Amino acid sequence: MDVNGTTPGPGAPTGSAPGPSSADQDQPESADDASAFGPAQDHYQRLWNPHRMVYVGGQGKPADGSELRCPFCRIPQGDDEQGLVVARGERCYVVLNLYPYNSGHMMVLPYRHVSDYTDLDDAETAELAAMTQTAMRTTRAAYAPAGFNLGINQGEVAGAGIAAHLHQHVVPRWPGDSNFLPVVAQTKSLPELLADTRRRLAEAWPGPDPRTAHRHT
Ligand SMILES: [Zn+2]
Repeated sequence: MDVNGTTPGPGAPTGSAPGPSSADQDQPESADDASAFGPAQDHYQRLWNPHRMVYVGGQGKPADGSELRCPFCRIPQGDDEQGLVVARGERCYVVLNLYPYNSGHMMVLPYRHVSDYTDLDDAETAELAAMTQTAMRTTRAAYAPAGFNLGINQGEVAGAGIAAHLHQHVVPRWPGDSNFLPVVAQTKSLPELLADTRRRLAEAWPGPDPRTAHRHT
């Protein structure tokens, strides 16, 4: 029988057809089965997962969008260890994400309670960018990640856990990390790990910077 339907037709390229040995297989449909599963493959859906970079389950999420109840306004008023603050700048600061997508997941954010990237003034915009670069350099020095995800989720619909106070995510990435880290992130040892991570990053952060002594509210 004409198992594979490979009887060469007019103009059939001889090089692209399955070799003669494939004619020995008695499952002529199998070669095409793989293409029958699901939609055509894309090559970008796993490169960026902003919906994962939120405060899982809304923990720490303020009851409303006000400054008074905002954890990102409150954190800089406490001490660095308690608040997991990695570095303080003049207008922005860097803090570990309490519910990290990955080890070393930091956020760079303004002291000022603003929600939208376009609300930042020029000086805040510049410092947010500079501290994001420093966060990458510091993480590279301390953890040697293979890559990063950087991003700002604007609005709850876009995945912002605390939408009222702008924050830029800096997430180090390693090959294969998305396979096991969400599981690791659920473990009880996370608070200790976060404290260790904060200390390591804070010590690796360039300094001493006299501005870090300042407290901005
Ligand atoms: Zn705030």
